[in-house]
Amino acid sequence: AAEPVAGRCALITGASSGIGQATAERLAELGCRLVVAARRKDRLDALATRLANDFGAKVHCVALDVTDVDAVMSLPSALPAEFADVSILVNNAGGALGTAKCTENNMDDVATMLDANVKGVVACTRAFSPGMVERGCGHVVNISSIAGVEWYGGGSVYCATKAAINAFTYASRKDLHDTPCKITSVSPGFVNTEFATVRFKGDKGKADNVYAGMKYGGPLLAEDIADNIVYALTRPGRVQVCDMLVYPTCQA
Ligand code: NDP
Repeated sequence: AAEPVAGRCALITGASSGIGQATAERLAELGCRLVVAARRKDRLDALATRLANDFGAKVHCVALDVTDVDAVMSLPSALPAEFADVSILVNNAGGALGTAKCTENNMDDVATMLDANVKGVVACTRAFSPGMVERGCGHVVNISSIAGVEWYGGGSVYCATKAAINAFTYASRKDLHDTPCKITSVSPGFVNTEFATVRFKGDKGKADNVYAGMKYGGPLLAEDIADNIVYALTRPGRVQVCDMLVYPTCQA
């Protein structure tokens, strides 16, 4: 039987597009109060308006760069009272930048990926997990990637960041096992979002090419990953889904 999430407060990072936005939509539909965070606040505002209209959802928007540790650490106490009881944290913000080999890595891109994909997740977990433990209800969901377990050339740093997130999730589960706070890592394969456009630094042609000719329904959609997140969140209290690998049917 599924446990309802209605009435819980969920913080989703990177909710301005793709998987984060789809997750916000699903959780709003299921009756969560939401804190949505990303750097592009205009997109969050538009999302909040839509979710209020469609589902009567209460949504608080935060312009946040997850690499800004001070901003992340001060966020719990800066939230309005109505959103102060965050019990679901979806660490989704991040992505890949560039396709360089290890001999040619651009160190600015390397820093961007390490900061967002690893430091951001660690910081958000540090900021919000104590409140979850204290209030006796919590779930951290880290969006990793199949790149964390299947490594490819031209993606050494991205793969390393997602492998790091898997290790962080598994080790944090040990830290949290004697609390009611769960932690899950969700590792998608190809998902058709803005991810590829960011990876190819705005080159839409190259980005679209990633998904060209994919059979059996093509790449995953962001809502497919949102569904898997909801599955993990709605298991009974005794059940902790630690790791989910989700591939498009056509992906090798
Ligand atoms: P998108 O590019 O569509 O979304 C990425 C989101 O992350 C945006 O909302 C962006 O918002 C946000 N973001 C990036 N950097 C920061 C930052 N420093 N601070 C705050 N927010 C940030 O891609 P996806 O939805 O696909 O990506 C979401 C997650 O899924 C990522 O962690 C990615 O690695 C992972 N993933 C994606 C796969 C795919 O094929 N699409 C496969 C496997 C994993 P803004 O720019 O407004 O800040």
